[in-house]
Amino acid sequence: MATRAVRGYRTISRDAACLLAGSVPWDLDTRALADVEWVDRKKGALSFRLTQVLTGHGCFGRYLCEIVGREETTRCHHCDDERDTAAHTLTACPSWTRQRAALTTAIGPDLSLPALVSVMLTSEQKSDVEKFTEEIISNKEQAERDRGRRALDPLRPRRRVIRNDNLPP
Ligand SMILES: [Zn+2]
Repeated sequence: MATRAVRGYRTISRDAACLLAGSVPWDLDTRALADVEWVDRKKGALSFRLTQVLTGHGCFGRYLCEIVGREETTRCHHCDDERDTAAHTLTACPSWTRQRAALTTAIGPDLSLPALVSVMLTSEQKSDVEKFTEEIISNKEQAERDRGRRALDPLRPRRRVIRNDNLPP
């Protein structure tokens, strides 16, 4: 790949091609990445729900509205806050007060994403973080499924759609 990037003959050494292309040789890059704490962690992989919390791509109003277009608003269905995000779910939503209290008792008051990652990497409380995210996100997923079923219910009153085709483009 580096040889192609510099448009050199294939007889150029890989290291020379990487140097000319300005890229780190892959074997060195791989070793450097393996030395990074997160990659070299000793305990478990990320769960599906924990990844949702860490990325914000999951069962959050903001993601469902702005990224995938499955919701009409970004509001939280559990407290009516205008913007449901991973941070809102972790730190503010009153629906998860009991779960949040259990987690802060175990790991301390800081529930920011950097703090959670630090806890997961350096302490035995990783399972507390996983338990917290599993419980909350599974509840949010169930609520989303319930909303979807209600939307498909033929006995459910339909919203009246107001169309105005006479508006100028
Ligand atoms: Zn909320």
